[in-house]
Amino acid sequence: PSGSAEPLIRVLPKDVVDRIAAGEVVQRPANALKELLENCLDAGATKVLVTVDKKSGGAGKQMLDFSISDNGHGIGKADLEVAATRFATSKLTNVDDFKTLSSFGFRGEALASISMVSHLTITSKTNQSGVVAHECQYLDGRPQPGHPKQCARTVGTTVKVQDLFYNVPHRLRALKPKDEYTRMLNMMQPYAVHVARRGVGIVVQHQQAKGKTSKTVVDLNTSNLSKLTALTRMDATERDSTGPFLSPIQQEATKQVIKTLYGSCWGQNLLYFQSKSCQEDEEDQSSSSSKSMSYTCEGFLASPSLAADGKVQLQTKNAISNLFVNNRYVECPALKRRLEDTYATLTSWKKPPFIYLTIQVPPNHVDVNVHPTKTQVALLFLEEIVTDVAAKVHELLNAQGQTFGERHSK
Ligand code: ADP
Ligand code: MG
Repeated sequence: PSGSAEPLIRVLPKDVVDRIAAGEVVQRPANALKELLENCLDAGATKVLVTVDKKSGGAGKQMLDFSISDNGHGIGKADLEVAATRFATSKLTNVDDFKTLSSFGFRGEALASISMVSHLTITSKTNQSGVVAHECQYLDGRPQPGHPKQCARTVGTTVKVQDLFYNVPHRLRALKPKDEYTRMLNMMQPYAVHVARRGVGIVVQHQQAKGKTSKTVVDLNTSNLSKLTALTRMDATERDSTGPFLSPIQQEATKQVIKTLYGSCWGQNLLYFQSKSCQEDEEDQSSSSSKSMSYTCEGFLASPSLAADGKVQLQTKNAISNLFVNNRYVECPALKRRLEDTYATLTSWKKPPFIYLTIQVPPNHVDVNVHPTKTQVALLFLEEIVTDVAAKVHELLNAQGQTFGERHSK
């Protein structure tokens, strides 16, 4: 109303601001789970177990509760007290750390955000805390009275998220638990493939109501490759110092996981791809200089022999493209489109039915901070990298197509 002395612009109360910010990081259960999974991996876990439970949230609305357990280094009592505080992190201490960042987390926002829009409980034990473990329940980022309190568990962490979006009714109304669970699974699958190189096994299960009781149904399990994963783990430690590419054992473990998750037809029909480029600058020889393009890329691609085979019918609408940049599962529309073009030119597929590629660039060539859920990243030299990778994929597919063609024309 004009003429009124009352100012119209007000600063929003802190709890409103916090909830808005939280809603950007945690858009749906799958985002929350992704953050929690990345925390497990940051903590050096080799086993991750996700359990999802559907329950009634009142007013005829179904809600998803879930928990994620790991055998990583755990969180001590003092850290539990602040773990869900916004911008509290053990991974970044100053702006310069951005340049060398290798962990997934750095903003200290995930647990805080999740706790703003759900009932969060963390149970954890470190190997320094003797026999004691601690449990801490949070509300709006702060421990509940009497928490953290002592409890029992083995070394590692369990994060339990209950009643997600209980206080954001419009978000809750928009979510269908069944679809959300599918999204969660679809997000866990590429990670399961990607961490096979480190020998990390993942299990995802859900509780299914059966009369008055419920039974556990396992939907994803890569933990049973134990012999291979143990080898991979040994290998991975050695690898880190020797080179950027996967050893034969790591390749085998990765292939096994792909087969387990996406079907046995991928056994013989995956091509291993690797490529590397480092355009040295005259003045500056260091490969992490921001003046020169530098990357390594590797992964597995659907072999055109499968398309020519005709025995295996693949639905290209279910094309799987799992792209990682610096170990982060991202959407990279530019690369995806270029690879689709490459496949469309060289094979009978319009889209590649399976792609798993991981690109590593120097940490200061990628900005992971452009999107609240970190699903898109800004890459320096994006165009150059995409062009180079696509050209080399083209070469590989072409060579493959030719040997296959020759074999058939005989
Ligand atoms: P960020 O990962 O950006 O640091 P988070 O909110 O995801 O922020 O986590 C806050 C802190 O809690 C982390 O920095 C880490 O110290 C600790 N933490 C969270 N999850 C785990 C876990 N699964 N194992 C060990 N520490 C964890
Ligand atoms: Mg995190």
